[in-house]
Amino acid sequence: GAGPTTWVYDFSEGSKDQKDLLGGKGANLAEMTNLGLPVPPGFTITTDACRHYLEHGSTPPDLGDQVSEHLTALEKAMGKTLGDPSDPLLVSVRSGAAASMPGMMETVLNVGLNDDSVRGLAVQSGSERFAWDSYRRLIQMFGRTVLGIDGELFEHALDEVKREQGTESDLDLDAAHLEDVVGRFKAIVAEQCGRDFPMDPREQMDLAINAVFDSWNSERAILYRRRERIPSDAGTAVNVCAMVFGNLGPDSGTGVAFTRDPGSGAQGVYGDYLQNAQGEDVVAGIRNTVPLTELERIDQASYGELMDIMARLEAHYRDLCDIEFTIERGKLWMLQTRVGKRTAAAAFVIATQLVDEGLIDMDEAVRRVTGDQLAQLMFPRFVSGGDATQLTQGMNASPGAAVGRAVFSSETAVEWAARGEKVVLVRRETNPDDLSGMIAAEGVLTSRGGKTSHAAVVARGMGKTCVCGAEELQVDTKAKRFTAPGGTEVSEGDVISIDGSTGKVWLGEVPVEPSSVVRYFEGEIDPGSDDADDLVRSVHRVLGHADEVRRLQVRTNADTPEDSARARRFGARGIGLCRTEHMFLGDRRQLVEKLILAEDDEGKQQALDALAPLQKKDFGEIFEAMDGLPVTVRLLDPPLHEFLPDLTDLSVRVAVAEAQGHPDEANLRLLAAVRRLHEQNPMLGLRGVRLGLVVKGLFAMQVRAIAEAACERKAAGGDPRPEIMIPLVGAVQELEAIREESEQVLAAVFEECGVELDVLIGTMIEVPRAALTAEEIAQSAAFFSFGTNDLTQMTWGFSRDDVEAAFFHAYLDKGIFGVSPFESLDRPGVGRLVEIGVEGGRRARPDLKLGVCGEHGGDPDSVHFFHQVGLDYVSCSPFRVPVARLEAGRAAL
Ligand code: PEP
Ligand code: MG
Repeated sequence: GAGPTTWVYDFSEGSKDQKDLLGGKGANLAEMTNLGLPVPPGFTITTDACRHYLEHGSTPPDLGDQVSEHLTALEKAMGKTLGDPSDPLLVSVRSGAAASMPGMMETVLNVGLNDDSVRGLAVQSGSERFAWDSYRRLIQMFGRTVLGIDGELFEHALDEVKREQGTESDLDLDAAHLEDVVGRFKAIVAEQCGRDFPMDPREQMDLAINAVFDSWNSERAILYRRRERIPSDAGTAVNVCAMVFGNLGPDSGTGVAFTRDPGSGAQGVYGDYLQNAQGEDVVAGIRNTVPLTELERIDQASYGELMDIMARLEAHYRDLCDIEFTIERGKLWMLQTRVGKRTAAAAFVIATQLVDEGLIDMDEAVRRVTGDQLAQLMFPRFVSGGDATQLTQGMNASPGAAVGRAVFSSETAVEWAARGEKVVLVRRETNPDDLSGMIAAEGVLTSRGGKTSHAAVVARGMGKTCVCGAEELQVDTKAKRFTAPGGTEVSEGDVISIDGSTGKVWLGEVPVEPSSVVRYFEGEIDPGSDDADDLVRSVHRVLGHADEVRRLQVRTNADTPEDSARARRFGARGIGLCRTEHMFLGDRRQLVEKLILAEDDEGKQQALDALAPLQKKDFGEIFEAMDGLPVTVRLLDPPLHEFLPDLTDLSVRVAVAEAQGHPDEANLRLLAAVRRLHEQNPMLGLRGVRLGLVVKGLFAMQVRAIAEAACERKAAGGDPRPEIMIPLVGAVQELEAIREESEQVLAAVFEECGVELDVLIGTMIEVPRAALTAEEIAQSAAFFSFGTNDLTQMTWGFSRDDVEAAFFHAYLDKGIFGVSPFESLDRPGVGRLVEIGVEGGRRARPDLKLGVCGEHGGDPDSVHFFHQVGLDYVSCSPFRVPVARLEAGRAAL
């Protein structure tokens, strides 16, 4: 059998490729250790151990012994013993999952301090004050995270001591005051837990390890994972690391840094430094930091070493890295590194920079960006003008343009957003509990903290607009208002605009303009000219390469000449879905009404004759916009009652007219028709091919309009490529009947016009039965287009128009799915039907053309699936076309 499981790895035993086992932090600490960088020694307890703990409610039986072994090695390396009364080794116990979950899980620092070792630390550090401050931090963190005590109790006790000393700052408290604080904190622990704060250093460590495991299932961690689609059973690793101190005086400090600007991608290091402080102070944004460049002045030697290390890390990881470091009395220590999060714009810019620097190739550049990032870059941005007044400028923490009503708590953000309000969350600083509010808000504005504060890091990660550190604003969350310089007050509900690219904040609504990336797609910016910025040039190169490597074609869903032309500019190679019902709206609704109300064939024919020329004109214009490219026209799909007035409205109108003594004949007839056509489940009723079979002449009229428009285009020297698509087919017999009729119409028109055109007739696969009988259906279809909207609706039995509002939030909350199946294809269910359809179709007809035209055609993850199952093309809305091009390229690599 297998030998005993290894639950614990020394930092020197791992590597960056072992994230699943050691977590991101542990794997990268190991990598840095092996690169010979100054990492404090330590060890990592694996995610396996966490999973075991979460499954069994207890740690693996042999974990304790393995931890002891590694602790002994650590003690040897440091020449100290954990909690030694005369010269204690202290350790940090930190979480670190495979996927980054910033601030979502727990950390306990200064483990190993107790009533005795605090005195040893005082002697060794030469500072009584430092020792007692470290001890009170331990009890506070341990109390909150391990013992589950309300953090406010500690804060109040600390405030109380400060009040007694007549000060507001921790820094004014001396060793004796802090010793007093420790006493009060211990009393809080005893009172809240019915037990004393544990004095045994090893017990402290073991309890802290378990608390980190437990924090995997904290509410905020669960919410974050759901949003980021991180598997809920992955577990976290735990890193136990020798403490180094950034708060030992002015020659100590702590900071975070990026090897390039994570906002714009600009070259050059970038970061924040906080003198005489511990790491948590920076990330929490509690005190204001200085730019990293200041460190050169403060401690030139450490700064130089840091620059060298950052250059090495970037070359080693071949990517932007972010790091956390501490300087303890002039000695630099690396506490963390990882490939850093960045904005969408920076992702593109950095990818091509690294190509130019010879670190990666273009394939890798395409892999390094995502369709979601590209989609973010296509959002509009603010223009100056309008009557909004600028209030202040903060830091441009995460780009985008957000307009909404100011709210001052996460709960309000969630509540207001749920009722359809756009809100901007305004806080002094955010903490992990604000996550739900940040998700609900259009953007986030804080008055404190730098670009590496919680608000900034989390907002960038989720592509949310964020302005942070707007220090001129006095934010009063209790009174639900903030005051800007000059005394302007902004209260809850007032509309504000924040620009995450410039950091500007306005009162009122600022008008927006299209993004430069969209202007490039529109052909308004030439990527080779001076008008193009780094971003446009980068997007141009990356998409160009994606186009070269992808196998999937990209078409668009469009039913107007304008949309067709735009999609073509955006790179669409044809139309995959032209929904003809969209051409029956507006004034033309009347004509459909006539068709429905006509009592005899003659009346019906008249109505159809009136519609025909309008349809023909539409098709002609679309063929022109898509000249030389396929245009799939889908015959009428929705139930007819959609073109008639609402039953209740009309009933009321008729009743009122009758009550007033002048009944309205026309409305009475209309009402009878509405009643006749009323269906309990219209989406499962008389629609699609069923209409074509039941309403005589309807599909023939549409086919004739298509054929005539194509003939006219051809005669005018164009190159129309129409394809006719029959919706909602479930049986080959339905398709055959419509196909025969259509072929006759086509032949007749071609003869009348003296033109020959090849017009493919195919079907949508959107009823489960069609997928299951695809082999038969393909006998009669030249192409399939998967209608994954209806296919999802009918496979799950979810009414596509109702469920998202009705109960999907509950399903998402309960984790039944992480994302709506209407948004991202449900691979095992609906995807399986697509596979069955592909296999069956190709068995009958190896050259069968296969595409998809449901919303999933523009969803990044779904595009990868469609590539894998061997479709020929995806079709999506015009603005999604570049996203689909990029993801099709990424899928092929
Ligand atoms: C579909 O069902 O996926 C589809 C594209 O058709 P529609 O959305 O028009 O029903
Ligand atoms: Mg459909």
